[in-house]
Amino acid sequence: MRTDLHHHANDALTRIRNLGILAHVDAGKTTTTERILYVTGATYKRGEVHDGTTVTDFDSQERDRGITIFAAAVSCDWAGHRINLIDTPGHVDFADEVERALRVLDGAIAVFDGVAGVEPQSESVWRQADRHRVPRIAFVNKLDRAGADLDDAVRSIRERLRVTPLVVQLPIGREDDFTGVVDLLRMRALVWADGDTFTEGPVPDDLRPEAERRRRVLEEAVAELHPTALEEFCAHSTLSAATLAAALRDLTRTGDGLVVLCGSAYRNRGVEPLLDAAVAYLPSPLDVPAVRGVRDGVPQERAADPAAPFAALVFKVNSTATGRLTYLRVYSGTIRKGGVVLDTGARRTERIGRILRVQADRHTEVDRAEAGDIVAVVGLKAARTGATLCLPGAPLLLEPPSVADPVVSVA
Ligand code: GDP
Repeated sequence: MRTDLHHHANDALTRIRNLGILAHVDAGKTTTTERILYVTGATYKRGEVHDGTTVTDFDSQERDRGITIFAAAVSCDWAGHRINLIDTPGHVDFADEVERALRVLDGAIAVFDGVAGVEPQSESVWRQADRHRVPRIAFVNKLDRAGADLDDAVRSIRERLRVTPLVVQLPIGREDDFTGVVDLLRMRALVWADGDTFTEGPVPDDLRPEAERRRRVLEEAVAELHPTALEEFCAHSTLSAATLAAALRDLTRTGDGLVVLCGSAYRNRGVEPLLDAAVAYLPSPLDVPAVRGVRDGVPQERAADPAAPFAALVFKVNSTATGRLTYLRVYSGTIRKGGVVLDTGARRTERIGRILRVQADRHTEVDRAEAGDIVAVVGLKAARTGATLCLPGAPLLLEPPSVADPVVSVA
């Protein structure tokens, strides 16, 4: 009986993606986030960054400064998956906030400026994500801008980040005439007409040789990095789309290769394939190592299992019109509205009030939150950022943020 339930819950877990968008200030993180919320239908209003109506920027101080200061999490749905987008500041002054966000996300989309390529700050955020072993895919943005060039950007990724780029798209048109991409896995052309809709069709004849050449480059690069792909490549001197996809998923999770997509967030081109790639290649909470903590001085692991004892990390506290919103990443177990939790470090119990899923333009109340999920809770009076909340009968202190920090023991 329990096993059935267990399977069912775990099936739901495979359809969650807790993601961050990592970018240098100005590369287009806000615009990309906003477009993601737009195409996933989480918002109906199409905000623009420059007039200050962007829906993820809840706070006016943020809008005034034009940079994202406060981390928040926004949920949206795509292709049967729930994507929780955890905001990560792009400004170098907020390294601590980045650190905190990196702790609670399972994967990230790194956004690069198609003109500037890898910039010094993108490099430092990249290293931070390396330390946390966050699987990433890349989005080369702003391909509509004068001087934008995917190949140049990819070269800077290879040289400065020392990772093997695996480019899965061929841009159609350049700069102002950038209209779409060829999906090199399926060998289909996606073209955005005026407005937001795109059409999918065969690769145009004039692009075919270049698309085939790039597909070959992709296959060779993947075969070099992935044993199963190498075997198939040696046997058939080609790779099927299915093998490519499976290998790209593995390489994303090990960090041995970096899937690169491209587009223009501002013109809303390329965001849907980016979401497809995020779902296909980035890990679910079940695919990442169990969270570690300490119980009575003894190191422990907690599996991402809704039936395990509850443990969650507070990664953000915001005062809003709704009240004090405490953002939690639930690592194991389940919490319900009205439930009592222990703030392990503070040795104090608190009661969970309402549990909210924060969407772009609204909060939806839910009656419980399970392992793997990210929610905001109303009603906690004292729990601070960084606090572990757990089931009072199974106290656990989640591992401190830095791997280098000494492990704190709790009685
Ligand atoms: P953030 O600092 O990384 O959050 O970057 P924003 O999303 O605020 O974008 C910075 C600036 O670049 C804004 O003026 C955007 O309108 C602009 N921008 C973002 N994406 C694109 C794009 O795809 N093409 C062009 N031309 N401009 C863009």
